[in-house]
Amino acid sequence: MSFLNVVEIESAITALANQYPTLCRLLTLPATTFEKRTSHALHIGLSRRCPKPAVLLISGAHAREMGGPDICVYFAADLLEAYDLGTGLTYGGTVYSASQVRAIVNRIDTIVFPDINPDGRNYAQTVNAMWRKNRNPASSGGNPARIGVDVNRNYDFLWDFTTAFDPSAQAGGTLASSDPGSNIFHGTSAFSEPETQNVRWLFEQFPRIRRFVDIHSYGGDILVSWGDDDNQATTLSQNFTNPAFNGQRGLHNQGYGEYISLCDNLRNRWTGDDMRAAIAGVRGLDYAVGPSFMLPSWGSPYPTSGASDDWAFSRYFSNPKNQKVRSYTIEFNKVHSFQLSWADMEPILKEIDAALITLCLSALPRIYLWDWLCLVVFWVYEAIWHRVLPPELWGPYGPWGRVRQVWQAVLYVVAAPFRRSD
Ligand SMILES: [Zn+2]
Repeated sequence: MSFLNVVEIESAITALANQYPTLCRLLTLPATTFEKRTSHALHIGLSRRCPKPAVLLISGAHAREMGGPDICVYFAADLLEAYDLGTGLTYGGTVYSASQVRAIVNRIDTIVFPDINPDGRNYAQTVNAMWRKNRNPASSGGNPARIGVDVNRNYDFLWDFTTAFDPSAQAGGTLASSDPGSNIFHGTSAFSEPETQNVRWLFEQFPRIRRFVDIHSYGGDILVSWGDDDNQATTLSQNFTNPAFNGQRGLHNQGYGEYISLCDNLRNRWTGDDMRAAIAGVRGLDYAVGPSFMLPSWGSPYPTSGASDDWAFSRYFSNPKNQKVRSYTIEFNKVHSFQLSWADMEPILKEIDAALITLCLSALPRIYLWDWLCLVVFWVYEAIWHRVLPPELWGPYGPWGRVRQVWQAVLYVVAAPFRRSD
């Protein structure tokens, strides 16, 4: 075995859709890449009348990071085969029961988009192994060294970094760049690239997505929001939607901090901790859980603009009508190389696939109802949520946010010691 190339990734998920037609279907993404490739994702889940919560897994943004798409393909194959055979899943010492496998396929929609940047991956696998961006030449001025956009700086979260961030936040070389020759060139506008447009399209098709993970390499980190600045839970007005703080973001322990309620922060981290435990169970490797801004394996502030995880988490805060998405970036592999051997990769497949199963389990609805009853409850809930109590009036940064801030703080300070010991 070895790493799948771009054609093999596509044929692998197509084969799964053909092999398990009642359990999954192939989705054709609408935006074709610069090199005219059409991308596909695999939608796993039994259809029900009642809207199901959804989980979106993506990888391949950074072309040189070998192994991310393979993780997604093996995850889908493992899940479908186990469901079909009525078995559980065993990844080293991390074990999932047959009923857990059944619950994922029956009760949630899992969308697997293994290779969002096929042009870049193909270039990395055939020409330049260290290629990171896509292959869009629009801003290159004909210079081959200036081709490509960093897909993971092109999402609509504080994309205009020259306005939103303190100028010195760029010093670390992680934030974003307006220079097409840079490895972190952010494109000509947010969502200017087909690769990010396709991810956005999936969020539009599956409005009930409540977990998102973007799989990257390397470091051994499970990253939670936010990535633009330090997290803080006290000042609602310091948030990415507030232009009063333009020019101040991105510096560690200075002035601005990105607001996240204590409750959201704990929930993000608890699921991260569960994924960390799933990984550790495979062969004992300890991944770190922490905010993207203080990327643990980097060791110093790592501000980012336009990154997928922040955009996915921010969608609810920019528009409370959107489903809140618990959002993660996994930086797999503690070998600390983009080009792993397949022998290095095999245990990593088990580790990250275990983490992904755990993430899916965290998205299961807490209460199970018959399909018809679920539908009625959903309609009533939606009617109240959108009409009687319109979210824009009681959104996260409004008066409702202040009320929640207080009672959640009390609730979670009291409850936290009982949840886990670290
Ligand atoms: Zn990456």
